[in-house]
Amino acid sequence: MMKEFELIRQIQRQTSASNDLESGVILGIGDDAAVVEVPAGLHLVAATDTLNAGVHFPEDTSPFDIGHKCLAVNLSDMAAMGAVPRWILLSLSLPEVDPHWVESFMAGFNTLAQAHCVSLVGGDTTSGPLSISITAMGLIEAGRQLTRSGAKPGDMIVVSGTLGGAARALELLQSGNPAAERHLLDRPQPRVQLGQTLVGYASACIDISDGLLADLGHILIASKCGARIDVSRLPQPEGLGSVEEELKWNYQLSGGDDYELLFTISPDHRARLATWSNQFDINLSIIGEIELQEGTRCTKPDGTAYNAQSTGFEHFRHKT
Ligand code: ADP
Ligand code: MG
Repeated sequence: MMKEFELIRQIQRQTSASNDLESGVILGIGDDAAVVEVPAGLHLVAATDTLNAGVHFPEDTSPFDIGHKCLAVNLSDMAAMGAVPRWILLSLSLPEVDPHWVESFMAGFNTLAQAHCVSLVGGDTTSGPLSISITAMGLIEAGRQLTRSGAKPGDMIVVSGTLGGAARALELLQSGNPAAERHLLDRPQPRVQLGQTLVGYASACIDISDGLLADLGHILIASKCGARIDVSRLPQPEGLGSVEEELKWNYQLSGGDDYELLFTISPDHRARLATWSNQFDINLSIIGEIELQEGTRCTKPDGTAYNAQSTGFEHFRHKT
């Protein structure tokens, strides 16, 4: 593709500013591969996530928001590990060569990249249906990563921010209603600093991409334990205030795309939650407790069981 090189040059122009001495970039965009410096005593943490148009974001999402979201979901994986994100690889599959589209896409990407001091060090540009694949690389002190496997009976279950807003916004959009909360779907905020702060305190951590019950399930299976969730304690965004109770709980329990952190932590650290909440200006809600008995039990305010309707978004669910 003749125009491929022009697009790459454009991307390079729009990003060159951030690769200073502190970035650890030995060799960035322009060679066959990037070279970065991993300081002694630190380990490299890597994650990759692909966003396809119409699947991971509505077709009408602005290029700026797509640029934000595809980086945000990858930074969210770094946050869930407690890692400091440093370097990004960006693979773009584009249906056409559109410099204006790429410019706004990169503006959204760069705004978030600069806020988190991460450097774009390479990628790939091809023609095809709109799809963006990002690889994020970060650093963590050797052996200190947060994993899914350390939850213990008695640990508190804590979630950042609010739940269900992105799913609600998507559903309103799909039924033809412009959603006031569309930013919850388009502009998830990766909880990068919170994740780093949880290192040494949280017993398990995951980011919520597929819905609370689905992602909590991953922690429970890895940690070989169960959980009780108090549905009345699930944090709700403003837009869910007017929604009927059980529908609201379903959004909060099963809605995807919130990219909040879900972690377990000993009650010994309870007082730290308020400190962190103030420090990062993020809501932190204790929504339940880890139990010995496997499975998840949701309870209503009156103490009776609540059975959620579905456990989250799964690709290929309707295709088997
Ligand atoms: P190669 O053919 O060796 O894979 P390319 O022509 O694909 O090289 O890429 C040339 C350079 O531009 C490489 O350093 C690559 O990492 C970078 N690059 C290509 N596409 C992107 C992109 N979308 N974002 C950032 N860097 C890119
Ligand atoms: Mg290539």
